[in-house]
Amino acid sequence: VKQNPGEAEFHQAVKEVLDSLRLVIDANEEKYRKMALLERLVEPERVISFRIPWVDDNGQVQVNKGYRVQFNSAIGPYKGGLRLHPSVNQGILKFLGFEQVFKNSLTGLPIGGGKGGSNFDPKGKSDREVMAFCQSFMTELYKYIGADQDVPAGDIGVGAREIGYMYGQYKRLTGLYEGVLTGKGLTYGGSLARTQATGYGLVYIVDEMLKHNGNELAGKTVVVSGSGNVAIYATEKAQQLGAKVVALSDSNGYIYDKDGIKLDIVKDIKEVRRGRIKEYVDAVPTAAYTEGKGIWSIPCDIALPCATQNELNLDDAKALKANGCFAVAEGANMPSTREATDFFQENGMMFMPGKAANAGGVATSALEMSQNSLRLSWSFEEVDEKLHGIMVGIYAKAADAAERYGVKGNYVAGANIAGFEKVVEAMMAQGVV
Ligand code: NDP
Repeated sequence: VKQNPGEAEFHQAVKEVLDSLRLVIDANEEKYRKMALLERLVEPERVISFRIPWVDDNGQVQVNKGYRVQFNSAIGPYKGGLRLHPSVNQGILKFLGFEQVFKNSLTGLPIGGGKGGSNFDPKGKSDREVMAFCQSFMTELYKYIGADQDVPAGDIGVGAREIGYMYGQYKRLTGLYEGVLTGKGLTYGGSLARTQATGYGLVYIVDEMLKHNGNELAGKTVVVSGSGNVAIYATEKAQQLGAKVVALSDSNGYIYDKDGIKLDIVKDIKEVRRGRIKEYVDAVPTAAYTEGKGIWSIPCDIALPCATQNELNLDDAKALKANGCFAVAEGANMPSTREATDFFQENGMMFMPGKAANAGGVATSALEMSQNSLRLSWSFEEVDEKLHGIMVGIYAKAADAAERYGVKGNYVAGANIAGFEKVVEAMMAQGVV
């Protein structure tokens, strides 16, 4: 805490991970101590921070802060998204980069961990302003990234449009047509099924978890928070597998549709018109919109938080349990507070942490990297099938590690242990670096 002041989210993530690794750490204490393994693990290999000047539509120069946290490259090039949101700061990106190291390891693919972004707020900006910002951002970032070095992707506020502008600028600056970013458009090296991957992957692992616990997704009522990329495709796959999704939200409020969310309307609002979730009730008058927080008070069997960090606290967890919810899986990164996570686990609810549950996005990004290297494009079905296999594999690894350490069903410990084991072995093998 003293060495990294003011980085509350980073402290929270490190504590949570190290606590759940206690059994492994205790068993290997001497070895880890001598190699300063944990000290190296919690210190990013590099944090780059820079100025992003750009000109707005009024001719006014604006300045934002930009970052790339290159956390750990023991098992592959740094890989992780770029977030554009006013809340972005170094501590949040370090928390996300740290988590990414374990998540990427868990996918079984050769990718290290990183994260980046800026406190730029894309909301209300014109296309030209977004382009000006993205070009300025890349004009500094391109020095530190590359297809075999560091491969950023999208995250909150960074979708296909922003990736396109950044890719164009990278190519212009370097002259390289390479897989340096993922989440690219389909006409310039993107992968089919990448857009859907995080949401679909989340539901695949939920389905797997339910099956292993004598249950199934079909017929269940689901609440999904957020209404961005992850939320939309989690809703789509949950519906395809026979569940009923009754709620979605954004940072202003939430909608409740007892008959089940009509996703084509949501896609039109969010993906075509870039509007707000409350516009849903204009199209579906039988649905209700409520301003503010409160989505977790809606009764459901399964809760899928897919908006942002710390959006689900202890009171929310209690409300979910009281209303009969028995399974929670995190589409977002660390959406549940530590108290909420503990509550789920102490009260017999199934809980799949984001590190495992939302890894389908980065896994499919790694598949995009493979296609770029091969100069090939796989079909939607091919990528989706690989994604499904990867999510089933992640479930197996997390469940197995939990069982090996005598905490069966504790997927938080299981995911952390399984992700940790591979990274640590690679770090040990590569010596003091
Ligand atoms: P989007 O920007 O597409 O959507 C984010 C959604 O969350 C929006 O509905 C947004 O509402 C809402 N939201 C953001 N901040 C807040 C807040 N402070 N309070 C309440 N709601 C908020 O992002 P994604 O769907 O891509 O990402 C969502 C989460 O999933 C993030 O935690 C991200 O790190 C994680 N994730 C995403 C992956 C991906 O492939 N996209 C991969 C793995 C994890 P509003 O419009 O009002 O801001």
